[in-house]
Amino acid sequence: MNNKSEILFEKSKMFMPGGVNSPVRAFRAVHRNPLFIDRANGAKIYDIDDNEYIDYVCSWGPGILGHADSRVIEAVKRACDKGLTFGAPTENEYILVELVNELMPSMEMIRLVNSGTEAVMSAIRAARGFTGRDKIVKFRGCYHGHSDGLLVKAGSGALTQSIPDSLGVPADYSKNTLVAEYNNNASVEKLFDMYGEDIAAIIVEPVAANMGVVLPDKEFLKDLRRIVDKYKSLLIFDEVITGFRLSLGGAQEYFGVRPDITTLGKIVGGGMPLAAYGGRRDVMDMIAPLGGVYQAGTLSGNPIATTAGIETLKILKEEKGIYKKINDNAVKIKNAVESTFGNSVCVNQIGSLISVFFTEKRVTDYETAISSDTEKYADYFNYMLDKGIYLAPSQFEAMFISAVHSDEDIEKTCAAIKNYKA
Ligand SMILES: *Cc1c(COP(=O)(O)O)cnc(C)c1O
Repeated sequence: MNNKSEILFEKSKMFMPGGVNSPVRAFRAVHRNPLFIDRANGAKIYDIDDNEYIDYVCSWGPGILGHADSRVIEAVKRACDKGLTFGAPTENEYILVELVNELMPSMEMIRLVNSGTEAVMSAIRAARGFTGRDKIVKFRGCYHGHSDGLLVKAGSGALTQSIPDSLGVPADYSKNTLVAEYNNNASVEKLFDMYGEDIAAIIVEPVAANMGVVLPDKEFLKDLRRIVDKYKSLLIFDEVITGFRLSLGGAQEYFGVRPDITTLGKIVGGGMPLAAYGGRRDVMDMIAPLGGVYQAGTLSGNPIATTAGIETLKILKEEKGIYKKINDNAVKIKNAVESTFGNSVCVNQIGSLISVFFTEKRVTDYETAISSDTEKYADYFNYMLDKGIYLAPSQFEAMFISAVHSDEDIEKTCAAIKNYKA
């Protein structure tokens, strides 16, 4: 029964576009009305009609410790008692950035912001300010938030909504965004041959996770490093999803490639609105008040958000075995899907990130990702939801495994997959 969700959705649509505050939440791609969530705990999420689901959305990535981890919640409650925001420096900010720097040493200097969109927008401004160049290279199907210049061939919500480019973005704002193909270094070389001296940076999701999960080929990231070095351009890793998820040190540690600038979001805020960008000291020296690249924020480094981030990162750092456990569980799910669907699907999995593409092709880039049958995905999603398993309501989003998905949760999920009937 979804009566309360249905009624609330109807009412919400009167005051919020599509009834939601972020498009993919509206469940449009799966032809169903969204569930309104009341609460969540551990691996379980509960809607306002009191249905229970095993959650594999995990708030789109932040929930690596599952929901409402008592250590995080207690720390946040204590922080609330001291006041919600001061607009002045706090010790928390220092503790968080020191921890981030320890886990990701390439982030020599760090600035805290409020969302991944803001982190990426600011990182690009820093890269442009530092190099004195205007152009950037992004990859088709990679999503870097909704700022004007980056909504070009973006993935995620923009893919299922079939809005390749957003209305309201003047062509002038995106004319400096060059688009290359993921896993295709020749396409990058070609852009650098033409515009190399004008390119400030390449921005990439080191593991693409917004056209579904797409793994980088063995040499892809290393080649990007080589290309930017040749042209004295910068390499930006958008680790908003991969940071602290693929490994404690993110994709840069996992693949052994050091970016000049990194953007973080999702996990770094431990479930609160917090994100970060940072990198080489000489680049970050360009940021105001030190340098001429202006960037500011009323709530940036918020004491409650930093508390959630600190507690989350501390737990990830101290609790050994989390990354192995979530990877092993992801492999179990991958195996269940492959044994059920065989060659009619392509399952991409790395660490705790998985996508099931309903295509017989091997998915390695945007072109192959969109070859998947989104209607088949919708059927699969609806079947799983009816079995009490909450997957991302879109073919082009990742499935996230958390540290608190139990053996029982994973077994129940695999059993549901194995009994699949369209
Ligand atoms: C989610 C995401 C963003 C945008 O972050 P928001 O906090 O939603 O603004 C940017 N880049 C990547 C890779 C993301 O997954």
